[in-house]
Amino acid sequence: MLSDKNQYLKVRKGVLLTDKLDFVISKIDEYFKDYPREVVSGLRTKENQLRIIINYANTEHLPVMFCQHDFDLKQDGIYIWECTWQKLLDKGYKINPPNTAVYNSRTIYMSTHIVPGNAFDIGSPAQLERDNIAGIINFVMAKEPGLIQSFTEEPKNGCFHINIKV
Ligand SMILES: [Zn+2]
Repeated sequence: MLSDKNQYLKVRKGVLLTDKLDFVISKIDEYFKDYPREVVSGLRTKENQLRIIINYANTEHLPVMFCQHDFDLKQDGIYIWECTWQKLLDKGYKINPPNTAVYNSRTIYMSTHIVPGNAFDIGSPAQLERDNIAGIINFVMAKEPGLIQSFTEEPKNGCFHINIKV
């Protein structure tokens, strides 16, 4: 992987990347020279995504009547995880579903981390860190317009989410 050589934007052990994610992360490394950060998430499976929902639900003491393999399972026409996921959104979590689903009559698309996997997250628990990362990413988008499509801050998740261009 190209990003194995990164000096400033390092990829946390165990994080999976596609070739395209790897390419973008290696290209933007130098922009983090004065502000070293870590990539904490990349490519995920639907199981991974439901696991994250289960973990947040446990943190919030919400009842969880499913396991991470139940991402396609429906009961009475709705996904078995849908109510739990909706309650997390009510509480301010910003998490996309493992399959496209509805929240407050809005369609929420499945996470862009899921295969084909066009997103990665940079760890940033504090607001100041996210402000700094936003500054860096805006600079990258201006200097190298072919790499990054968009970004969102995810304070509750302690990260900064970046969608790459495909
Ligand atoms: Zn993300």
